[in-house]
Amino acid sequence: MDLQVYNTLTRRKEPFAPLEPGHVGMYVCGPTVYDHAHIGHGKLYVSMDIIVRYLRFTGNQVLYVQNITDVGHLLDSGEDRILKGARREKTEPMQIVERYMRSYMDDMDALHNLRPDIMPRATGHVPEQIAAVEQLIEKGHAYEVEGSVYFDVSSSPNYGKLSGRRIQELEVGTRVDFREEKRSPQDFALWKRADSEHIMRWRSPWGEGFPGWHIECSAMAEKYLGSNFDIHGGGLDNIFPHNECEIAQSEAMSGMPYANYWLHAGTLTVEGVKMSKSLGNSITLHKALQQYPPEVLRFFMLSSHYRSPIDYSDEALAAAGRGWERLVAPALEVQRALQQPEGDKGVTVNLTESIESARSNFISAMNDDFNAPGALAVLFDFTKQVNTMLAEHARPDDGTLHLINSLYRDLAGDVLGLLPTLSRESREDKLVGLLADIRSEARAREDFNTSDKIRDQLRQTGVTLEDGKSGTTWKIDAQSSSD
Ligand SMILES: [Zn+2]
Repeated sequence: MDLQVYNTLTRRKEPFAPLEPGHVGMYVCGPTVYDHAHIGHGKLYVSMDIIVRYLRFTGNQVLYVQNITDVGHLLDSGEDRILKGARREKTEPMQIVERYMRSYMDDMDALHNLRPDIMPRATGHVPEQIAAVEQLIEKGHAYEVEGSVYFDVSSSPNYGKLSGRRIQELEVGTRVDFREEKRSPQDFALWKRADSEHIMRWRSPWGEGFPGWHIECSAMAEKYLGSNFDIHGGGLDNIFPHNECEIAQSEAMSGMPYANYWLHAGTLTVEGVKMSKSLGNSITLHKALQQYPPEVLRFFMLSSHYRSPIDYSDEALAAAGRGWERLVAPALEVQRALQQPEGDKGVTVNLTESIESARSNFISAMNDDFNAPGALAVLFDFTKQVNTMLAEHARPDDGTLHLINSLYRDLAGDVLGLLPTLSRESREDKLVGLLADIRSEARAREDFNTSDKIRDQLRQTGVTLEDGKSGTTWKIDAQSSSD
């Protein structure tokens, strides 16, 4: 069976066929960077990461675009999120943006999410957004009122096709004064005039103002992926109004379908309750990562299907911790065994059939709408066989160990991102070890120019080599790495 994906747009599973075979364009709605990311963001972006990883694993070239929303959007209170953050922390809005964008990247790196290929920022694409708004006015899909521009929903016959809603609701966060000037309550802002105290503002044909939220995704997706592209991803709560408005704008501009497949990740609750700041049950990724290893958090997020909801609790994380260890322990043991020379101790074990069927069952599970829990179940079955083998034979043959190792590396590592990576310390240690070896070799052949150069230059970077009876050891000074 080839890859089937559930498409929110058609409300069914469909065979996945990219516009150009072997090439996939994918856009995912990124974070608004005004505060630390929470575990719900973690769940969303791990879900999207698995999709990208699996598409690449199956031979596709994926162009993964994820925007950074660094223009504030109005809260219910009428406040701009980024300006609110700036007031809270008494800083420039762009300082808030930089601070939380870095915090977001750190969290995503820690969770082993691959970095998107392009992370366009809304503030870096204001001309593109203004051009999109101008085009919509020209084509009769938008109108200007006193410096603000609104999309005319009545001009878009398919509005509501993604969410299935014929909305009579107002756009969340629209202030009364904006509401009253719209022709219809469903119309949404493409451009907003800036009040005198609004700091983030740009010149436009309609006076000074700032773009609405939805238009940034339409403008940036079009710029990097074209008017019609393969996959648009996001969280379930992006479907309405955000993604619905994106479709309306983009299709009104190009006259073409926007994204072909809409993939939405289920929401994360905390002990059965939707996370919200007002309930005080919001958990930042930063805090969760202090409590649990990143791979355990990731394992937890993959333990339910990406479209399903998932509930965060201490018990669920403890179970994830046990599951992850059960999966990873034999993988590491196989790696360790491979580091010992086989010599004449190797016992020939025949696991070829199990290895092949594990690989094909894993692929079947993932082909079924990226069913990571199903794929994990396949790996657990296989792990039982590896454990039995390790218990029966002290030193299985290298051939078998290599096959098992590459199965874990490909599936648990490359696709699911669950194998622990070398920490920076141990990688640093390995590099210093390598240089120390090269220096010893230079000394052995009396090439003191090279050996002194290595020692002196390492010292300048804060690494001191010490020659002792049992070889060279070293100290890495944590403070001086940037001197
Ligand atoms: Zn978006």
